[in-house]
Amino acid sequence: MYYGFNPTYFIYMLPALLFSLWAQWRVTSTFNRYARVPTSSGINGAQTAELLMERTGHRFGVASIPGMLTDYYDPSRKTMCLSQSSVQNSVASVAVVAHEFGHAIQDVEGYTPMKLRSAIVPAVKVGAAIGPIIFIVGLFLASTGLIWAGIFLFSASAIFAIVTLPVELNASSRALHMLQANGVLSAEEMPGAQAVLGAAAMTYLAAIAQTLLQVLYFVSLASRRR
Ligand SMILES: [Zn+2]
Repeated sequence: MYYGFNPTYFIYMLPALLFSLWAQWRVTSTFNRYARVPTSSGINGAQTAELLMERTGHRFGVASIPGMLTDYYDPSRKTMCLSQSSVQNSVASVAVVAHEFGHAIQDVEGYTPMKLRSAIVPAVKVGAAIGPIIFIVGLFLASTGLIWAGIFLFSASAIFAIVTLPVELNASSRALHMLQANGVLSAEEMPGAQAVLGAAAMTYLAAIAQTLLQVLYFVSLASRRR
């Protein structure tokens, strides 16, 4: 009745779905393109992590994980989890590693948007899980209060997606700065790194569009009952 086979839901979500598929395709194709371009300095992703630790004086763990573009920084273990495709010698690899290093530096510096994002994670999980249930119960009981409480709880996912954006953009701008300042990439190689990280940023915009449209859909259902 609300997700299932409601065509209105698909009309709402289709643009976000297409945007998200396009963003995914773009990040993969851009990464693959620059994964074939070796760095002129000969440095690979794994060595980039080492070099940036030396230069900044901050030590972090480095763990190897399977997959492609599955890289992330784990603040609880102070560890950069790098995928196989990111430890290679390529412009794309060093860009991804420098981005994760950017998150690591955000963590040690106590970068406010990152702290805010971590702080709201429990509320987001609860809101995403029980928001839709409360919303449906509200529809059944014809309770306007419950319906809007459900929407309010559910919109935590959208807030999370929005707070994620500055954290990601900042990690990428730190990455580009570190790659250039430490001579990891030459001036000619910088646009490649920029393209890879710019394509990744688009996937976060797609996530915002998706969660916002979902909230909008709930709102449209709530207002149509009257
Ligand atoms: Zn990131």
